[in-house]
Amino acid sequence: MTSIKKYFKQQLTMKERMAVKSVAAAVVPYRLRYSNGIWSKFKFLENSQFYSIERQYGIQLQGLKETLQTAIKFNKYYRAVFSGIGLNEKEIEACSDIYGLLRQIPFLTKADVRNNLDILVNENVNSKAIVPKTTSGSTGKPLDFVNSKECLEWEMAFMWRHWANASRWRPGKKMAFLRTYIPRSNLKDPIWYYDPWTKIVWASAYNMNDENISVYVDMLIRKRPNVLVGYPSSIFILAEYLLRNRKSLEVGGVVTSSESLPDYQREVIEEAFQLSVAENYGLTERVVGLGKCSHGLGYHDWYEYGITEIVDENGDNVTTPGMTGEIVGTNFTNNKALPWIRYKTGDIAEYCEPFMCTCGSKLPIITKKIIGRTDDILFSNNGCRVPGVNFYTMFQQYVRQIKNFQLYQSDRDRIVIRLVVNDEYTSDIGEQFKSKIWQRVGRTMLLDIEIMDEIPREENGKYKCIKRDKEIDLFWKVNNAQEVVL
Ligand SMILES: [Zn+2]
Repeated sequence: MTSIKKYFKQQLTMKERMAVKSVAAAVVPYRLRYSNGIWSKFKFLENSQFYSIERQYGIQLQGLKETLQTAIKFNKYYRAVFSGIGLNEKEIEACSDIYGLLRQIPFLTKADVRNNLDILVNENVNSKAIVPKTTSGSTGKPLDFVNSKECLEWEMAFMWRHWANASRWRPGKKMAFLRTYIPRSNLKDPIWYYDPWTKIVWASAYNMNDENISVYVDMLIRKRPNVLVGYPSSIFILAEYLLRNRKSLEVGGVVTSSESLPDYQREVIEEAFQLSVAENYGLTERVVGLGKCSHGLGYHDWYEYGITEIVDENGDNVTTPGMTGEIVGTNFTNNKALPWIRYKTGDIAEYCEPFMCTCGSKLPIITKKIIGRTDDILFSNNGCRVPGVNFYTMFQQYVRQIKNFQLYQSDRDRIVIRLVVNDEYTSDIGEQFKSKIWQRVGRTMLLDIEIMDEIPREENGKYKCIKRDKEIDLFWKVNNAQEVVL
């Protein structure tokens, strides 16, 4: 980040920043605020969602060939992998069977990425065309990688298409985001603000007590966004408030992402907003893109994004409807920087025979249910409910000191911060970590740090970053049920 940008972001109050942006927005038309790359990709995607299955297959085959050829030419890691299995450029070029070709290639695991990052990035990559990224993901362990700028343009274009299909929104219209914004207390940031440049209302998902939610509701009534986008857990908290207070709020559509949307949350959201929720599934690694439309029948395959497989524990493609397997992705959008080929996401989905949705899109539905990523909510004793996924972003600042973490709410007033640390960790880091959690859950919660050698896995083999004692679940369900039944 340039120093001017950094200063703009870190030193100015939100009010000052938005004043600058509103001057800029008054002179720069919306069309010029996004790159030509984004607009052209969006235009392509608007059309390609209606291509025939044969044409889709052709695009995927071409995308796969390009990804593999680029890897052979410019990637040390994959050259070794491909030479180990005897796969060469000629064979790739001659291939017409996508899955036959893929099956020959070993999976790429998170451990592979962690151990080989230096040789997994293409040799010819231009450092100006890539963006370093880190994710803690649902396993809680950090992972470094790079995304190409082109990949990030594709990402935006895919999201635009998804939002446009799921709501009244079109590029240039107003949106509301209830997700990553965190007000900075030292600069007295407001709990929500409107960005005139992007036309997005940002509301904090960290401060959701009744008093603040009523402010959000008044603001949303005034701003009339064409779509509301957020974590399911934060939109759920807003929806539950609306029902409990018998208030209605019109938004042009609701789209959730980053967490799976449990049925109990979906029902409350749909009742409160009187519409069907759309969802999308993706990863910070940008390997798989799936979107559930408001018809709710299952996840449409964004086939232009890459190839999504569901594999069983033997590594074979699951072909029995109803059976579950791990989601494995081969991506087309990042292959000029770091090719993700048969990357094991660690998330689990239920296989279904691909079918066409009733919504009219020609993007086939390939899974009805994604089981992984069941992030949760922490309940603070000041009446706020804090979506768990928010803590991942916070954790990313400490990936050099903290290897793994779990926030375990042992009772209503206490959260145990379980940490697996390395040599760079000091007790100061622990105190910083604590104060950031206090910002989110309120000072009235007791926080204890517990340093552990390893965080125990759940019965399903996954780590749970956010965990609550079962009795708190019970307390919440009983009370919540009484609140939302009208
Ligand atoms: Zn659909």
